[in-house]
Amino acid sequence: MRKNIFLKIFLGYLAVLTLVFSATVTSSFKIIRSNYIHTTRDFLKRPSIAVRDLTKPMLENKDLEKLNAYVGDLGRRMGIRITVIDKKGRVLADSEKDPLLMENHGNRPEVTSALRGSPKSATRYSTTLKKYMLYYAIPYRSKEHVLGVLRLSIPLNNIDTLLDSLKKRILEVALIVLLISILAGLILSRIISEPVRRLADSFKSNGKWSPGVNVSVESEDEIGELAKGFNTMAERLESSFTEISHQRNELESIISSISEGLLVLDREGKIIKYNKAAEYISDIKDIQGKYYWEAFLSRDLQEFVSKGIEGPSRKEIILKNRTFIVSITPVRPVDLSVVVMHDITELKEMDGLKRDLVTSVSHELRTPLTVIKGFTETLIEENKEKAGPDNKYLSIIKHNTDRLINIVRDLLELSSLEDKESRLNIEDVDLKALIQAVLTGLSEQAKAKGLSLNSSVSQTPVVVRGDAFRLEQLFTNIIDNAIKYTDKGSVDISISSDANYARVEIKDTGIGIPREHLRRIFDRFYVVDKSRSRKLGGTGLGLAIAKHIAELHTGSIKVDSAPYRGTSFTVILPC
Ligand code: ADP
Repeated sequence: MRKNIFLKIFLGYLAVLTLVFSATVTSSFKIIRSNYIHTTRDFLKRPSIAVRDLTKPMLENKDLEKLNAYVGDLGRRMGIRITVIDKKGRVLADSEKDPLLMENHGNRPEVTSALRGSPKSATRYSTTLKKYMLYYAIPYRSKEHVLGVLRLSIPLNNIDTLLDSLKKRILEVALIVLLISILAGLILSRIISEPVRRLADSFKSNGKWSPGVNVSVESEDEIGELAKGFNTMAERLESSFTEISHQRNELESIISSISEGLLVLDREGKIIKYNKAAEYISDIKDIQGKYYWEAFLSRDLQEFVSKGIEGPSRKEIILKNRTFIVSITPVRPVDLSVVVMHDITELKEMDGLKRDLVTSVSHELRTPLTVIKGFTETLIEENKEKAGPDNKYLSIIKHNTDRLINIVRDLLELSSLEDKESRLNIEDVDLKALIQAVLTGLSEQAKAKGLSLNSSVSQTPVVVRGDAFRLEQLFTNIIDNAIKYTDKGSVDISISSDANYARVEIKDTGIGIPREHLRRIFDRFYVVDKSRSRKLGGTGLGLAIAKHIAELHTGSIKVDSAPYRGTSFTVILPC
């Protein structure tokens, strides 16, 4: 960091310095040279007219010897080379060379221009004198004609000598300036990079930044501001870290204190969080980072979780000889799943005890109730002839005994369905025939209420694998309810099937069931309107029995209803 920023600043500074320096030197050399040429040209221009006027008569008289001697003398005295050229470009006189030895000068640019009538200057290497020269040529005129050209020239080696010595001087100065600049650059780069280095150093402790570290840069410039900003940020970060770790500890303690087993799984099913209760239920010791199927060797749990990762669900699962309600909830934004395992073993045992108690009591009640019913009927029979209140009381006793007998019957029915030992007599059952038999049995009841009992059946026979006796019970309960809770209109039954399932829909035009009760009507003893159910001889167990039978057949029952618009039950059974 230090090396980088320091070198960057310093090398940048050096590059700029060199660029500025060479640009200045080059352009100043150019300016000096062009100024020198300009001044020298003026120096040649000024005497050119006088020299031309002095030499013109000799040219006109073709007195070349005199002209050459004059030009030679004048040139020496003026320190200028003077050349006279005729209109064909031949050199007639020259102050420094023998004109006879000189080549034709007609093609020299300044001579060509002057022969056309325009004075012109040029700088060029003279092949005659082997020097860089500045030339200035003007025409000799006689009326409209050009007689020849007067050319004055001076060597430019003066300027080169001047520039050479200037160059030397400049280089000396430049070297000193460069050394001073490098020194200044070093100091400057250090001044700039040092606080940044200190800033970076403060940030690092053992090569890593840690929250809450204070940056000690006190400069008043932007870097000082930056340091202050970092300090504020570090403080905030530290308090955020403290808060987060506090929250995390709190969460950990809450999670570990709950008695339900809790697992958090990632997308692949790896356990990324768990509590003690979950570890206790698991089959291995350290479950952190293990896949759930490694930690829990239950096939039921594995199947349930693998399905549950897609959507929330719950199921009763036996783990280590205990019963759990296991629920899984995918947490979409973070792609995790939360599994909660609630131990219901005690509840289950209590439930079993209750059920056993109910079954025993029902068993015990059945015989005395039958006896009471028998004697009541006998008494009614005996009192048939006598008028009086006795008969009315006896009828009430009989009605309630019947009710009790029905309840006992349904309770025993339910407990036999719940008994794990009980088996279904599975055979091929023709649903059409079975439902027809149920309808025949209930037709009188429907007729008595003035209801039409209709069934629409698909052409093909609908055969399911099931227990005919239990299925008859199921449909009797539902169709009996439909008739009971419908005062006018109809009860329609439709049977359909596909490759996998048979569907039976029982639709009535009765009183319907309010939405808030729909969820619970399959519970034992749950009735919507107690007095109505009682009046109609209901026990509150009919739907519980029906649901149990459907589930024993791995089927299901759905209900759809609205008050005063009727109810529709759909029974789905696998074919
Ligand atoms: P019940 O012996 O009282 O009929 P069920 O378990 O058969 O008991 O039914 C539970 C309750 O569901 C009934 O009391 C009644 O309120 C409601 N119910 C069942 N079937 C219907 C229906 N077809 N129309 C309206 N309510 C119904």
